[in-house]
Amino acid sequence: MSKLIFLGPPGVGKGTIARKVDEVISSPPVSTGELFREAMANKTELGLKIKGYMDSGSLVPDEITINLLKEKIHGMSSFILDGFPRTIPQAEALDKEVSVDKVISFDAPDEMIIKRLSGRRTCRNCDATFHIDFLPPKVENVCDECGGELYQREDQKPDAIKQRLVVYKEQTEPLVNYYKEKGLLETVDASGTNVENIFKDALAKIRGE
Ligand code: AMP
Repeated sequence: MSKLIFLGPPGVGKGTIARKVDEVISSPPVSTGELFREAMANKTELGLKIKGYMDSGSLVPDEITINLLKEKIHGMSSFILDGFPRTIPQAEALDKEVSVDKVISFDAPDEMIIKRLSGRRTCRNCDATFHIDFLPPKVENVCDECGGELYQREDQKPDAIKQRLVVYKEQTEPLVNYYKEKGLLETVDASGTNVENIFKDALAKIRGE
């Protein structure tokens, strides 16, 4: 049973690796970004409140985010947090709730992040994701799964990506030191394109190999 945090810039592939790790060690990924996107898609009160922050690539205020996360992980004995915490106050709030076993920090250069994020396309109908270079659909702008139209999410457009990277460096990167000082940090090089290798490295670090 593990309580893990995956730290790293947007687009580094944390979500993909978290899903693969879950298949092996049964630690379900919890993504605050996904929870927020769901709330937006369902046009809940929360969804309407956070849309502006999400679309522009800014952070949703700590209080909203911390409450959502606390509710979500209540009673869970294992999880992989993907995209939380993103600020020092969020990390401090988490410390009061649970004892984290390990923090895996995924590293990749900015140019790679920009290329990965700006090439992503999502199906309007079934939410399947593609990439114009790395995972192109068979027919341009058409979903392989359901034939739906592909579009570029607001927060994957160039201005929002730049903003997300600025926010990451200013507000989230300090968490690397925060967890290093607690002796919980492991680092994984996520700059390559071979997902299997990144996954294996992450799993070895989680297992303390
Ligand atoms: P993600 O899918 O993790 O890249 O998150 C997408 C967006 O959701 C971010 O750009 C933020 O607007 C919002 N978000 C997700 N997680 C957090 C968090 N821990 N704190 C504040 N905002 C968040």
